[in-house]
Amino acid sequence: MSLGWSRRAPVDTLVGTETAIDFTIPVAELPRVSHELTNHEGDAKGRVRFSRQQGHAVADLEVSAQPEVVCQRCMQPMRWPVKVNSRVALVSDYDAADRVPDGMEVFLVEGDSVSVRDLVDEEVLLALPHVPRHDEDSECARQEVQSPGQPDEPDDEPDTQKPFAQLGELLKRK
Ligand SMILES: [Zn+2]
Repeated sequence: MSLGWSRRAPVDTLVGTETAIDFTIPVAELPRVSHELTNHEGDAKGRVRFSRQQGHAVADLEVSAQPEVVCQRCMQPMRWPVKVNSRVALVSDYDAADRVPDGMEVFLVEGDSVSVRDLVDEEVLLALPHVPRHDEDSECARQEVQSPGQPDEPDDEPDTQKPFAQLGELLKRK
């Protein structure tokens, strides 16, 4: 059975035939992931294999990607390596989701069919950081330690000073 990553197919068929698909999906083609990112370059690559495990329709999914996110400390773009290796139970309703054993993730299938794109979109989305930041030993982190909210420049910049900050200084001197 030949199947592209963009095509939806019935879960029963995918599982029944134990379909395996190697994929390279442009990040721009992942709707929810690309909604979170400003730069849509790059691909999500990997492999998925459908089967039935412990009575559940599952997809064993391996994905790697290098999406570009924006560091929330220095506001510079950075690559965020994503490496997912998970067993995802494909369920059609919340009752079925409750019966999924620990160790499996849950993917809610709409209309009994699924595409590899849907699965990869969700898994990469879950792997994105809420507040991306460069490593603690990076240049970005060191700069923050050196100057927490204080500019390096001398104080002689009356135009940029807030009047009440000066008032605070005056009160402190009393
Ligand atoms: Zn940074």
